[in-house]
Amino acid sequence: MALFVYKFGGTSVGSVERIKAVAGKIKKAKERGDDIVAVVSAMSGETNRLTSLAEQMQDEPTSREMDVLLSTGEQVTMSLLSMALHDLDCPACSYTGGQVKILTDSMHSKARVREIDDSNIKKDLEQGLVVVVAGFQGVDENGNITTLGRGGSDTTAVALATALKAKECHIYTDVDGVYTTDPRVEPKARRLDKITFEEMLEMASLGSKVLQIRSVEFAGKYNVALRVLSTFKEGNGTLITYEESEMERALISGIAFNRDEAKLTITGVPDVPGVASKILCPVADENIEVDMIIQNIAADATTDFTFTVHRNDYQKTKAVLEEICKNLSAKQVTGDDSIVKISIVGVGMRSHAGIASTMFRVLADEGINIRMISTSEIKISVVVDEKYLELAVRALHKAFDLDKEDQ
Ligand code: ADP
Ligand code: ASP
Ligand code: MG
Repeated sequence: MALFVYKFGGTSVGSVERIKAVAGKIKKAKERGDDIVAVVSAMSGETNRLTSLAEQMQDEPTSREMDVLLSTGEQVTMSLLSMALHDLDCPACSYTGGQVKILTDSMHSKARVREIDDSNIKKDLEQGLVVVVAGFQGVDENGNITTLGRGGSDTTAVALATALKAKECHIYTDVDGVYTTDPRVEPKARRLDKITFEEMLEMASLGSKVLQIRSVEFAGKYNVALRVLSTFKEGNGTLITYEESEMERALISGIAFNRDEAKLTITGVPDVPGVASKILCPVADENIEVDMIIQNIAADATTDFTFTVHRNDYQKTKAVLEEICKNLSAKQVTGDDSIVKISIVGVGMRSHAGIASTMFRVLADEGINIRMISTSEIKISVVVDEKYLELAVRALHKAFDLDKEDQ
């Protein structure tokens, strides 16, 4: 007998029929003799629906009230799943994050898990119950409801698997594993049997939303066996692991992309010490996260400074930069919010030269202009115009031999 944490995403619990199917799947696992803790997301579309209700109520609702509101989505699913289990004569009990209790810090909308009191869960498991937990939420030390950021139910599942020392944490979703790239963009994408934590972390950070970044960080830190599988189709899915050996042969494991990017440039900035901090500190003060940064030196002792931010922060960043432009007597601020970042990721890159040049040649052959480049040990990212996203991803997928063999 082993303990598993199963997490079911929004699509997997998107209707009454699907919740019943999930209950059936859990019942089968119980019949095999396993103990199950099920973490559930809100029904698909529900978190967005709740967000739009809030927007109709107030321009900028407080993050505390937003968390109270958004946490209800998962609360609906947890009780419905518990009822569906009862209906199958499978005893179950549901808990909100606060009831468990999953203690977090007080950073509303992006709280971090600090500690989990697993005593209720353990008691219920001992009595043979299936424990259903609302994902994406916790409670701070003052009793305020917090949420863990979009996609946060993945992190709830991994945190519970860690606390309960589960055998494996299964992330059940609408794809049957982690693919070489998003199969919605490249149907020739291949499912990976295994991927390293390091690569999965890069893929998640660079835009592959199949797993929330923090869930991968958490699982890597505590060495939780993490597996992504389909709710709808049998199979072994993809195991996220520390083992590298078999995969070393592949130069590139996957291609990630992020559509949520925008870039801004401030030109004609005096090229003197302290200029980067004069530009980026006021941006940071507005709580705007900066991603890629490039500084060019011009012949006339001025510099052009370009960086990317989340697309939602584009207008706000532009306003901050206009002010900085005046203060620094720089030339002008320009920007573009229809760009995307595309990244190739692979631990094999460490030991092979020429990967960047191949990437740039493939893009050039397709007539795609590269606007920014950044590299690290196991990834190369480029910024290109949004209209080239599909073309670029597919061309790179083919060039790096990632396409499915049978196509
Ligand atoms: P859930 O609601 O179950 O949490 P998500 O929508 O968060 O599901 O994640 C699953 C989706 O992630 C898939 O439908 C797929 O389009 C997308 N995705 C992006 N990159 C990848 C990838 N490399 N492999 C698999 N799926 C990916
Ligand atoms: N319901 C939340 C979201 O849509 C959390 C999750 O599904 O993981 O982001
Ligand atoms: Mg998700």
